[in-house]
Amino acid sequence: MYYLSTRDKTLRFTPAQAIAQGLSRDGGLFVPETIPQLPAGAMDKLKDMTYQQRAAYVMGFYLDGFTQEELTGFAERAYGPDKFDTPAVAPLRKVDDATYCLELWHGPTCAFKDMALQMLPHLLSASLVKNEEERTVCILVATSGDTGKGALEGFKDVPHTRIMVFYPKDGVSEIQELQMRTQEGDNVGVCAVVGNFDDAQTGVKKLFSEEKLRETLNERGYFFSSANSINWGRVLPQVVYYVSSYADLLKAGAIKEGDPINICVPTGNFGNILAAYYAKRMGVPVNKLICASNSNNVLTDFLKTGTYDRNRPFYTTVSPSMDILISSNLERLLYAFSGEDDKLVADYMSQLNASGRYEVDDAIKAQIRDQFAAGFTSENETEETIGKMWKEKHYLIDTHSAVAFHVLEQYRKETGDNTVAVVASTASPFKFGDAVLKAIGVNDVKSGVALLDQLAEVSGIPAPAPLAALKTKTPRFDQCVEKENMEQAVLGFLS
Ligand SMILES: *Cc1c(COP(=O)(O)O)cnc(C)c1O
Repeated sequence: MYYLSTRDKTLRFTPAQAIAQGLSRDGGLFVPETIPQLPAGAMDKLKDMTYQQRAAYVMGFYLDGFTQEELTGFAERAYGPDKFDTPAVAPLRKVDDATYCLELWHGPTCAFKDMALQMLPHLLSASLVKNEEERTVCILVATSGDTGKGALEGFKDVPHTRIMVFYPKDGVSEIQELQMRTQEGDNVGVCAVVGNFDDAQTGVKKLFSEEKLRETLNERGYFFSSANSINWGRVLPQVVYYVSSYADLLKAGAIKEGDPINICVPTGNFGNILAAYYAKRMGVPVNKLICASNSNNVLTDFLKTGTYDRNRPFYTTVSPSMDILISSNLERLLYAFSGEDDKLVADYMSQLNASGRYEVDDAIKAQIRDQFAAGFTSENETEETIGKMWKEKHYLIDTHSAVAFHVLEQYRKETGDNTVAVVASTASPFKFGDAVLKAIGVNDVKSGVALLDQLAEVSGIPAPAPLAALKTKTPRFDQCVEKENMEQAVLGFLS
């Protein structure tokens, strides 16, 4: 199977090329030329597989040129007991008879980014070998928190890779900064940038396009790539857990084979919910995909009206990983819903670039109405949902997952549709402990690592081991540069 660009489908690439390159040169995203179908009886087989086996099975449909043995090895290393604190890897927890929570934060950084970023390095380094690439890849990341740490943990000590992460000096939480500054591994670099996330992000984008820098690094045996969610190698591992959740529902007797389910996802860059859409296209019976946003509700408006408009205020919320106004992965959905009309997608994207706005045609609107629902959650409602879930179910959830639970509740009230629903839970509550403590009624909230103990004490739930370990770790990185000096930082790192 080949991969095509969403903006020019005459450009064709093997899976290994698509993964190594990340983004198509015309600015489009890589999509598989067809969506493979789960064969009859697949769910029966999947029911009895481990998560690692499910991952190798599902990814195998998409990755011509990779053997099943290879993929099995990757899955065992990516999702092994040294990385994930439960053998289920992505356990499905029953909340009530119609509501199940897919916990995606049992990995080494306690956010759902691990599900993909533990797998991507294996896919990428194998791709380099298949492409006969002799240079070392240098992954550059600008992060607002979760992606940077997830990528560092995934790529640490992976042969033929280096990774450098830039984070905004005052734009990440204390825990997130400590997670990155204490990162272990011989191939990693971490650097703060004076400014906000946009400064770090713009700086990294500039490095990618700097022709002279590319030549210098080429002479030193390096080339740049990205671990951002536009890389197909990040979307694909996410398809797995939606297929897996359906198999788990069957196994638990919550549904019968063929019964439709709804899936509700707290959404930022549209990567996670897009993976659920691909699972549906593969044959998992899904009725509605419910897209949950916080106050940055550009996607709610788009899915309800067909007009995408990023010209609006940007809010900083208690669910920061969803504070985003340009959801890159939406482009892949537009490609599918337009009947794979690459010219139309390119036109929408150039309108977005020029004016921050585009309106899709009626055919696309009809498909969105048919398959998606959308809603958003205010800051107060997020807090109330965490408090209510804790009081009524003794279930502690983080701020992002709370956004999704509230939107699901709204959806059910509005539509009366009580189909069994899977809610994607994207972070451990300990990662956003200050907001969670306030939400469950604690007023005097501590700061830094003391927060972890405080939440553990109040809730009776131990902090996840990777976060608890921060208390004894010494920071290895203390570099901080002005945004003009990011290039020197990279040259120093790759000297
Ligand atoms: C990244 C992230 C999201 C948003 O996921 P997208 O794939 O960007 O839509 C939601 N919650 C958490 C905790 C995240 O880290």
